[in-house]
Parts: sequence; structure tokens; C-alpha cells
Amino acid sequence: MEKGNVSGASPYVHLVRDCFRSGGYVFATKPGEIAREHGISRVARLASNENPNPPGKKAVSRGCEALGSANRYPDAPLEQLISALASCHGDYPFVTGVGMDGVIETLVRTLVDPGDRVAVSVPTFSFYGLAATAQSAEVVPVARQDDFSVDPDRFIREARGSKIAFLCSPNNPTGTVTPVEDVEEILRKIDGLLFLDNAYVEFAGIDYRPLLADHGNLVIGRTLSKAFALAGARVGYAFVPGWLVPFYNRASTPFTLNTVSAHAATGALEDRESMEAFVRYVRDWRDRITRECGFPASPSGANFVMIDVAPWTGDGMVRELARRGVIVRSCASFPGLPDHYIRVSIGEDWENEMFLNEISVIRETGTGLSSRVRNRP
Ligand SMILES: *Cc1c(COP(=O)(O)O)cnc(C)c1O
Repeated sequence: MEKGNVSGASPYVHLVRDCFRSGGYVFATKPGEIAREHGISRVARLASNENPNPPGKKAVSRGCEALGSANRYPDAPLEQLISALASCHGDYPFVTGVGMDGVIETLVRTLVDPGDRVAVSVPTFSFYGLAATAQSAEVVPVARQDDFSVDPDRFIREARGSKIAFLCSPNNPTGTVTPVEDVEEILRKIDGLLFLDNAYVEFAGIDYRPLLADHGNLVIGRTLSKAFALAGARVGYAFVPGWLVPFYNRASTPFTLNTVSAHAATGALEDRESMEAFVRYVRDWRDRITRECGFPASPSGANFVMIDVAPWTGDGMVRELARRGVIVRSCASFPGLPDHYIRVSIGEDWENEMFLNEISVIRETGTGLSSRVRNRP
């Protein structure tokens, strides 16, 4: 996966900071590799929670046209994007970033000194911890309950003294939606800032924005990578309290987005119908996969479903599905989760059908179960 030799062939490797000597983001297996390895012509890509449809016409035409004015720095395109956000949501203070990941990285850089505490509700998306670790913070994991809901009292107690606390709703990879009242209670009682990750909120039909009026310690992160089909354009934004904006801008790179991505995002935001149609499609499939996968699935507010595949391991089931041309994500790399979960994104009709067919064959024939025995000492 990584280009170049990380293992230490160069005498200069000692220059690299300790926090980057190992670990890093876990990427999905590339579909091309699976197809070649198993001689499969069509691979179902259900591992990355992407929108399987290309971006809408407006996003594409705006992005393409924008390249013609890329000789200029993107002040004007960024202003237009902020106006488009205001038309969607109302007149909130916004910041933008290279994906929501970029927003998270800049926010951590704005607030966190080495040694500061950063709380993370787990199991969850790995990038919060990676960004905090890169800033030499102390990451404090706060466990969810057995049904993956958040216990506000525990969260408040264990997040105390943290500069930032990260809470994802709907949560990746469990799909769990945290009620607005629980988030409000947390906001009232923690002493730092709450970063509420709403990457999948469009699929959930829940609205946390009313909390912004009364809570100066709330940041809500959003992205155009999921419902708006622009993962490759890398556009994220956040609702922030007004006091934070000038500080965020000082900590950020001089231009958060490029001309092409800013214009494509503006086009995508103006095309709500495509997004809403996709949300309806996702909800139908989410219900069907939850009902028909043959294993217990966690209730999900997102465009994916987390499935308990015991007695298989997540890794074992992912291998079996990959051999059959279906790529899903094992949840084994999410700290705080047992090893018997997979996460399946809602893809195109044929991909979802293929997943349901193949998982039922695996379940009925028991193939791949020996890998669990091998994994268990
Ligand atoms: C996908 C995802 C993001 C980030 O998406 P970007 O592509 O960086 O905008 C953030 N949080 C969660 C939970 C995600 O799953």
C-alpha cells in the first residue's frame, strides 16, 4: 500500500516522529487486486461507504468549468461555497476543509497542545485518534455500551478535562444514532469542545443544528463525500461557534479547498433532489439488508449496516466474500469492537443483491468457518 521503503533502509528514517513509525489509516482492499487475484469480472465495492452514483450534473459541470479559472487563488470560489451553505442551512458560521478529515485535522491543530487530553467515544472512526496523536495529545477512549449507544454520564465523566471530545452520530462503523437530548446533556456538562461528526446525518433524519444556538462549545462536522457523492473532491465543512472562526483560519493552510472542489461542492449543494433520492434508496436497501442478511445487524442511521457474523470472524467473512467478488469492511481494526463484525455499505442494486446471495451461500455451506478456528489459539 505505502510507496517507498518505510522499513528503515535510509539512514534518515530516524528523523521521522515516533507517532508515525507505525499504524496509520486502514484503507479498503483495492477492487482491482481482488478481481485479478480471483479472476472475477465484476467486483461489488461495499467497503468504503461511498455513494455508488457519480456526482450530479451540476456538480460535474461546475467543477469542469472551474478548472478554466484555476490560475487564480480560490478566494471567490470559497466565498461562493459559503453562500451555498448558507442557502442550505441558514446563516451559521462555517469553516471548510479538505474533506471532514481536513476540518478535524485543522481543529485539532487549533486547540490541542502536546500532552492535552482528547476524548473519543469508541468504537468509532479512526481518524480522530490519528489526528490527536499527530498533535502529541493523550487520547482518552470512552467506551460505548454493549448495544453501542452512548452513556451520557460516563461520557461526561471520562471526557472531563479534554480539550476536544469526539462523538460520531450516526456512528461509523456501528450505525448508532445518539438522541439529541443526550448530546445536549453532554454539551451542558463537559468543559471542553464537542466535535459531533455528522458525516452520515442525511441518511438518519435527525437534526442537531438547533443545539448550535445555545452551545458555544459545539462543532458539527459535515462532508460532501457520502450523500453528495463527492468523496474524490475532498470537501468537508463544519458548523462552528463564531468565536472559533478566526483561530481556525490562523491554524489552517491559507486556502482550505481548491477552485475545482469548491465549485463542484457548490453545484452539488444546489442539487438537493439527487441527494434526497439517494437517501430514500439507501433507506430501502438498509432495511432489506438488515432483514435479509441472515445475521443480527445493528440498527443503522447511515448508508451502511454493521453485521455480527459470529461464529465467523470479521476477517474470515471478508476473505470469503472477497473470493466471491464482494468487498466489505472487517471491523477487526476498530479498537473496542469484538472480532466478529463486518460493515457493509449500500451500493448499486446488483452489488447489494450479490452481497445478499453470497453471504447466504457462505452461511448455509459453512465455508470459511475453519479460519475462525485457526485464528483462535
Ligand atoms: C467518511 C467519514 C468522514 C470523512 O470524510 P471526508 O471524506 O474526509 O469528508 C468523517 N467521519 C466519518 C465518521 C466518516 O465515515
